[in-house]
Amino acid sequence: MYANVIIEYGVKSLNKTFIYKVPDELKEKIKVGMKVYVPFGKTEVFGFVMELIENNPTEYEAKEIIRIDNEELVLNKEMMDIGKYLSNITLCTLITAYQTMLPSSLKIKRQEHKYDLYDEYVKLSDKVKALEYICKYPRRLAQIRVINNLLEVSKINKKEISSEIIKSLAENNLIEVEKVGKYRINQSNNEKVKKILTSEQESVYNSVDFSKNETYLLYGVTGSGKTEVYIKWIEKCIDEGKTAIMLVPEIGLTTQIAKRFYDAFGSDVAIFHSSLSEGEKYDEYLKILRGEVHVVVGTRSAVFVPLKNLGIIIIDEEDSSSYKQDNNPRYHARDIAIYRGKYNNIPVVLGSATPTLESKARADKGVYKLLKLNNRVGNAKMPIIHVIDMEPEMKKRNMIFSEFLQNKIVEKLSRKEQIILLLNRRGFSTYITCSNCGFTYKCPNCDITLTYHKSTNNLICHYCGYQKKRDDFCPECGEKSLNYYGLGTEKLEEKIKEMYPSARVVRMDQDTTRNKGMHERIINDFKDYKYDILLGTQMISKGLDFPKVTLVGVINADASLNIPDYRSSEVTYSLLSQVSGRAGRSDIPGEVVIQTFNPDHYVIECVKENNYDRFYLQEMKFRKNLKYPPYYYLVGIKVIGKSYETTIANAKKAKKYLDDNLSKDTIILGPTTASVFKFNNEYRMQIIIKYKFDDKLMDSLKDLDNIFANNKDNYLEIDFNPLRI
Ligand code: ADP
Ligand code: ZN
Repeated sequence: MYANVIIEYGVKSLNKTFIYKVPDELKEKIKVGMKVYVPFGKTEVFGFVMELIENNPTEYEAKEIIRIDNEELVLNKEMMDIGKYLSNITLCTLITAYQTMLPSSLKIKRQEHKYDLYDEYVKLSDKVKALEYICKYPRRLAQIRVINNLLEVSKINKKEISSEIIKSLAENNLIEVEKVGKYRINQSNNEKVKKILTSEQESVYNSVDFSKNETYLLYGVTGSGKTEVYIKWIEKCIDEGKTAIMLVPEIGLTTQIAKRFYDAFGSDVAIFHSSLSEGEKYDEYLKILRGEVHVVVGTRSAVFVPLKNLGIIIIDEEDSSSYKQDNNPRYHARDIAIYRGKYNNIPVVLGSATPTLESKARADKGVYKLLKLNNRVGNAKMPIIHVIDMEPEMKKRNMIFSEFLQNKIVEKLSRKEQIILLLNRRGFSTYITCSNCGFTYKCPNCDITLTYHKSTNNLICHYCGYQKKRDDFCPECGEKSLNYYGLGTEKLEEKIKEMYPSARVVRMDQDTTRNKGMHERIINDFKDYKYDILLGTQMISKGLDFPKVTLVGVINADASLNIPDYRSSEVTYSLLSQVSGRAGRSDIPGEVVIQTFNPDHYVIECVKENNYDRFYLQEMKFRKNLKYPPYYYLVGIKVIGKSYETTIANAKKAKKYLDDNLSKDTIILGPTTASVFKFNNEYRMQIIIKYKFDDKLMDSLKDLDNIFANNKDNYLEIDFNPLRI
């Protein structure tokens, strides 16, 4: 018997399999999709079995497979097919695709690390011998006590017995140690609190047909009870013996949402998000492989989990950018979900209060089925939104808080209600310049200004992580004339504490949530009313459900609006609507204060009116005129390299290649400098392809990719449907 094995190997163009002989002792065990350890050249590497065949089709003598890595891990037929699909749509190698689909602990690595966790139990190996021992050594009281206990309960956790006694009993061959596998995360089954769906929820619930594949867009305003409906759909699947994948966005939200699913399904849930340890993720994956759970709740990569007998896939907040991976392979979880929906002939639900234009357009065309929740649950009303023009405030020297927002903060604090403040920039000061010579700090590796972080007294590049200590004197002219401008969350926190000394303030951004469990701690403490004000970056904008929050303040609504990108309006609309949705989610009405220098901008107006439909129509016109998605598909190509000259020259060559090979209706723009031209000491030129239909596209891009795989100066990054250009 022979196996076709695909291996991890440094060269990008290496996408082929190698033939190995299956040794006799593995013939019974080996399966397609298993991870094996094989000799390769002078070394040994891991690979996946792609195919098992009787005879060696080559003229070469095949080497033998050394061993199977983990008999429990088998990529089933669906996983094998998803890998091929992923590799086709992103142009990554097959091995990269399979690697992407697995948790880090099960990926192919140079170094091995064992993640299995055990409890060790002590048992008597021979009762008769034990009784003889008691008679023979009646004075060894400690040992006898343990033997008597073991005669009674049959096994005891090794930790509960002193190591000396274990040693002496083991020397007399009286005991043996049994290893019992255990999981790091153990959820108990709580008493389920059943909610009765409102009639609006009920009708949405009934609209999903579980007997066939269809993609649904659930467009429901914030607080309309989407999550509650997800839970009911999943319950239905479980009742029928089927399983469900529930995708949630990265950051912040995950832990709060996960809790609701634990409450509903207890130990029937496996969970995946970035703040779990590798060991925890490994255990959760084992639960799936062993068929011990019906529900998986997780972020982007959970879309790949090998749940058998799938009944539904749900993507909450489908417009979240965290569903798109921003390194190779640049896949979108939505595409994989839809592929699996078709594969398993099951419904896929995309939920959001602010759907992407692509999804809404598809729903309008009938490609997706549109479901709507127009009302908040119970007595909760949509919040009142105040837009404050900051220009006159500046003249009054209200640089951070408008008078209106200040008054609202005081009012809510005095009524013991809670406040959320959004500022989408971390750090203290966002740029530093010298008032004497005009010098500004830039990252030496990137085309980016450095941000000052007061807590560490460092200047940091938010792109590559470069940092340096703060200087007292300007490094250019030597004068003591450095000025710090721009507002980040760190400075905002300091200002709030100055202005409202009695308020209890907590900050949530990348800097305060770096340590494991910090997200959870901040969210739980805020929910338990240990704080009055929660301030933070977009991390706090989505999904969180705090009944006592009655005021949301957006300090600078223009930050994301001013980014020169075709999606900046969409991103801003979504951010502002979502964060507004955190206010007034229970009986007390909520208010939102949006501070901006563009009060007449249509995005701001639409947010104020809570009018997604108006925003959608207006934005669609703009996209149509400028030939952007959803009217055209985009591909972003970056030519990247250490040398400025070769990067520009090779980008021109790539452009010429595309001009010569793509169909005439396809628009090819560039090369231009990428939005961050220099990143990590590499230069980046960008080419944008816009197309509606081009049957030459994939083959041409594959060829171009192969041409660059052999280029020693530059490499390519190809991004299908990029979220930023
Ligand atoms: P969304 O996901 O649309 O933002 P949620 O599912 O978080 O909305 O619901 C908002 C709030 O309303 C939550 O506190 C939730 O527990 C509550 N809720 C939702 N549906 C119901 C229902 N049918 N009965 C009672 N409370 C509900
Ligand atoms: Zn940098």
